[in-house]
Amino acid sequence: MKKILDDNELLLIDAHCHLSAQPDELKENENIMPILKKFSKNKTNLILNVMTTTHKDHEILKNNNVFSNKHHSNIKFGVGIHPWYCYRYSLNSNMTKLNHYQNILRIDSYTEEQNTFNELIAKNIEKFPSVINLETYYNDAVISCYDFIGEVGLDFSANLLEISDILNIRNVKVSPKHQTDILKFFIEKAIYHNFVLSMHSVNARLDTYTILKEYDEAMSKCLKIVFHSYTGTIEQFEQQYLKLKHTKTFMSLSGYINLKKPLTKKMTKLIQKIDTTKILLETDVPINTDRGFDFRSDLAKSLKIIAELKNIDYVMLNKQINENYNNIFS
Ligand SMILES: [Zn+2]
Repeated sequence: MKKILDDNELLLIDAHCHLSAQPDELKENENIMPILKKFSKNKTNLILNVMTTTHKDHEILKNNNVFSNKHHSNIKFGVGIHPWYCYRYSLNSNMTKLNHYQNILRIDSYTEEQNTFNELIAKNIEKFPSVINLETYYNDAVISCYDFIGEVGLDFSANLLEISDILNIRNVKVSPKHQTDILKFFIEKAIYHNFVLSMHSVNARLDTYTILKEYDEAMSKCLKIVFHSYTGTIEQFEQQYLKLKHTKTFMSLSGYINLKKPLTKKMTKLIQKIDTTKILLETDVPINTDRGFDFRSDLAKSLKIIAELKNIDYVMLNKQINENYNNIFS
């Protein structure tokens, strides 16, 4: 007879969570060991993939010695620049700070206003965050400290809150070209280091696919991509991503974005049709949260929603999801 498992006995895997909600929330010298201890395997029976979103997260991890400290074997760390913060990074070391920002920032407005906008940037340039050279900072030695790449991606609808505050105007965005250049930098690092990518794609589905297809055609080795909180259609996933030759694509589904009830028709269809070997679970929540968020119950809830829609046993589904994770990340 099958043993009915208590939820705490299930090994649950969060394939995409964060260190903190904002890049400047934790101090660079902050001791994050109590946070990591809280998530130890014997306390939580969880495996976590923790994303970094800016170089500040890297500084925190480095200062806490997490790369040489093997006590947290249930936590994998991902290296990345979230598209919301990619304006702080440059791939061109010859550019001045002013040129960099004028080159990559846009306002949702008429083109003739771009000149006025550039003047506004010039007037306030001292208040802008200093620009980090991506290639120098994220050299191969830094990348190789990590277990995978994430969070990276494209988000063509994101407004830059920090810059909007400095300039006192709304709807400041990063040019799609700059986002694409940064994403390409990390895709190339993933290919070189044989790393999986945990990818964000909002309002940029076609561009994401076009970039991946280009690499897919030029590549001879395998690249694995997990689309985090995938909100595209099942048709796009099957007819585009699954048709790529060397690129293996998966999706991690979150309670917050994908499985919030009532489920959309699109999401219901996606979950009913997607092959179970393609699914992972995620929370997308920062592990430093003090708002009483329960990672286990959120993941278990997501698991049960998917199992119910697919009309399968959730323990069996979890077994498959954990197998997927091991196949993808090891
Ligand atoms: Zn995320």
